[in-house]
Amino acid sequence: MIAKNMLALGTNRSVIRDLFEYGNQRAKEIGRENIYDFSLGNPSVPAPKEVENAIRAILDEEDPVAIHGYTSACGSEEARKAIAQDLNQRYHTCYSADELYLTCGAAASLISVLRALMTPETPEIICAAPFFPEYRCFVEANGGQFRTIPAQEGDFQIDFQQLENALSEKTTAFLINTPNNPSGAVYSEETLRTLAELLENKGREYHHPIYLISDEPYRELTYEGTAPFPASFYRNTVICYSYSKSLSLPGERIGYVLVPKEADSGEALLGAVAGAARASGYVCAPSLMQKVIAHCAEVRPNLEEYRKNRDLLYRELTQIGYQCVYPKGAFYLFVKAPNGDGNAFSELAKKFDLLLVPGESFGCKNYLRISYCVSHDMIQRSIPAFRAAFEKAQSEAQPGT
Ligand code: PLP
Repeated sequence: MIAKNMLALGTNRSVIRDLFEYGNQRAKEIGRENIYDFSLGNPSVPAPKEVENAIRAILDEEDPVAIHGYTSACGSEEARKAIAQDLNQRYHTCYSADELYLTCGAAASLISVLRALMTPETPEIICAAPFFPEYRCFVEANGGQFRTIPAQEGDFQIDFQQLENALSEKTTAFLINTPNNPSGAVYSEETLRTLAELLENKGREYHHPIYLISDEPYRELTYEGTAPFPASFYRNTVICYSYSKSLSLPGERIGYVLVPKEADSGEALLGAVAGAARASGYVCAPSLMQKVIAHCAEVRPNLEEYRKNRDLLYRELTQIGYQCVYPKGAFYLFVKAPNGDGNAFSELAKKFDLLLVPGESFGCKNYLRISYCVSHDMIQRSIPAFRAAFEKAQSEAQPGT
């Protein structure tokens, strides 16, 4: 016997992967330079020089057995201390190493936190659209219930009336991602303040806390000043972080969970995160990368490439007539499908070798995601294809023209 749900997860590729594979196939037929692939969120800038220097220094100077050996399950104290110190400097917090658990990236952080929080009495995780599609899999495959509320179109902040209606006694956490994949929206201070008040009140009403799970792989990728830090607004915030995007290290699988001591049952929750990591086989994050983070916790990404890409795409696409909320962070643009249907427009765009991810799996059927972590040159070359796809959708909407 084989677990049917796991078989389905392992064999049904995500829409994003499907598009990416389609692009590879098409590249063989017509040449890579003729494909405009905006499907994946794989950083296009190399890791900062400091990371390379740290790897060289560690390999040259440290004991090779220790470099590749096991560390404590929760990660080395030097890496956790460096992370806590960096956060404290930036956000005026007072975190310590023992509030942190190092993980194999944000996916492992999220799964550990979800498993630690979801119980038979409180199985619900609520999330506002648009959201990272893997959340659904992380929640449901671990026995929880994934509930979503519609996007607040216009600015992609939170529709608080919808959230209030969705929260229930069974809710254990609200899951956010700011800066956001796929919208590029950054939650404002006002949004976070209102959110904190609502979760605090609901927690009191239900006699158990409603935690805020803050998925922050794009925290440092902001183009209009720093993003407000959710944990500064709400005591019961659990941070899931990853260096995949900020240090361009997605293949190295390194990140962390931070459960503040001041959170309700903070110590027990971190203990449960450790248990969930153990049960999932995520103990002891890659040790060379732990050492790199101990050296590089204060290193920030160079955002100039992404900023140039964002500015060019936003300017050109809105001039053509695409509608899009101005993205302040991450490396995605979320555009409204010119024909009102993200799936149909993604298919139409393929005819122009333009690969755009339909918004349905992000919870917004009438949108498409464009990942601009690609070469500037490809974006420049792709503009005529964006124009042609837009015009085709317009002409199809007006029969007889
Ligand atoms: N959360 C969001 C919002 C993401 O966009 C991603 C990756 O694209 C992840 C989590 C997973 O990140 P990681 O590679 O660190 O597991």
